[in-house]
Amino acid sequence: MDWNDSAEQATFRAQVREVIETKMPERYRRGSSAEGAGSWQSDRISKDPAARQAASEWANALAERGWIAPHWPKEYGGAGLSPMEQFVFKQEMAQAQAPGVGGMGVSLLGPTLIVHGTEAQRAEHLPRILSGEVAWAEGYSEPGAGSDLASLQTRAIKDGDDYVINGQKIWTSGAHTADWLFALVRTDPEAPKHRGISFLMMDIHTPGLNVRPLINMAWEHGFNETFFEDVRVPAKNLVGDENRGWYVGASLLDFERSNIAGAIENRRLLTNLITYAGSAEGRPKSRLSESVALRHELADAYVQTEVLFNFSFRIISMQNRGLIPNYEASTSKLFNSELVQRAARLGTRVFGLYGNLWDRDDPMAPMGAQFTRLYVTSIPRTIAAGSSEIQRNIIATRGLGLPRG
Ligand SMILES: Cc1cc2nc3c(=O)[nH]c(=O)nc-3n(C[C@H](O)[C@H](O)[C@H](O)COP(=O)(O)OP(=O)(O)OC[C@H]3O[C@@H](n4cnc5c(N)ncnc54)[C@H](O)[C@@H]3O)c2cc1C
Repeated sequence: MDWNDSAEQATFRAQVREVIETKMPERYRRGSSAEGAGSWQSDRISKDPAARQAASEWANALAERGWIAPHWPKEYGGAGLSPMEQFVFKQEMAQAQAPGVGGMGVSLLGPTLIVHGTEAQRAEHLPRILSGEVAWAEGYSEPGAGSDLASLQTRAIKDGDDYVINGQKIWTSGAHTADWLFALVRTDPEAPKHRGISFLMMDIHTPGLNVRPLINMAWEHGFNETFFEDVRVPAKNLVGDENRGWYVGASLLDFERSNIAGAIENRRLLTNLITYAGSAEGRPKSRLSESVALRHELADAYVQTEVLFNFSFRIISMQNRGLIPNYEASTSKLFNSELVQRAARLGTRVFGLYGNLWDRDDPMAPMGAQFTRLYVTSIPRTIAAGSSEIQRNIIATRGLGLPRG
């Protein structure tokens, strides 16, 4: 495959760049030090009017071009971009560290409704996702059901025109800043475990639904525990058939499977590290000049980053031919998540004891403590969206044809 832009792709790339350069609010520009800058979902409901203004300006700039949902078909309000254009769009957004808008509503719920929803459900929910008015959270995992998701126990019982839900979800990312939740619930406890599950949508402020914060080890509030106590959800919010929710949920295709953003992030980390370590400010704190081993590790990290780019290119070339990446996406996810953890460890070791400094504003902390923080914040990357062991299982069985055992 030829990786140089075609004339149309080059024109499209220039358009994306121009929008980012001229329309992206200052708050989201690289180097912005505003507290919490970068997260559209929390900015949109922030107490700070400047954050709300930035979130809405950016959402409007993307919405005008259908770029909140680049991969959705045009008939549903998306941009209907080809896989290659989506790739270009993602590349440019990642390069500029521009925040995406729409979160799980765009990536997960919208595509599900397009395939499995009723006309009424699409008419009610898709426009509000596309305008950036409503944000969604995903209620799948439970304390006893993560990798083995089909073991989930949260119970929904039909009562008149409603389902009544009792149970608990966990690791519900962004539920504290979301307006709606989609969840997998058990509607038939007697059926084999995959066959008694349904897919329900609910207003997150429904009485009986309680979202409690979970603070991660970087002292950030990203995910939550979500409790359901006699939560009544109208039966019209069932997506697909009752007890067929597993198949509705499983068909949630993540369209961003190329991990191009991960490859760009790794390249940026390395480039910044090398530049800083050679600068007048960074040189005295860096151990690169005294350690051959560290220099070799940096060379390895460079090679691995280029390998990651090639995984991304392979996936996009498959999508371009109408194929759906399977174990190839697992390979890229596994490699990317483990690579960023290695890069974080390497970055902290390059700075020796300075690598322990945690405070972004500490003038002694190299690169605003970027690597120290990444050392901690990259840990969940090998758990979220399928742990490394699960990715290896997929590669071994579906990719290499090894027995399940
Ligand atoms: C940052 C983050 C955000 C998340 N956001 C959400 C969200 O928004 N909504 C949501 O529903 N969930 C979310 N999750 C949950 C995530 O989907 C689960 O953590 C993940 O599926 C793993 O499940 P678990 O934590 O229960 O671990 P477990 O499944 O209990 O696994 C524990 C350990 O056993 C290993 N293991 C399990 N099964 C196998 C096997 N068959 N073979 C080999 N090893 C195995 C795992 O790899 C892991 O090391 C999030 C998680 C993280 C870290």
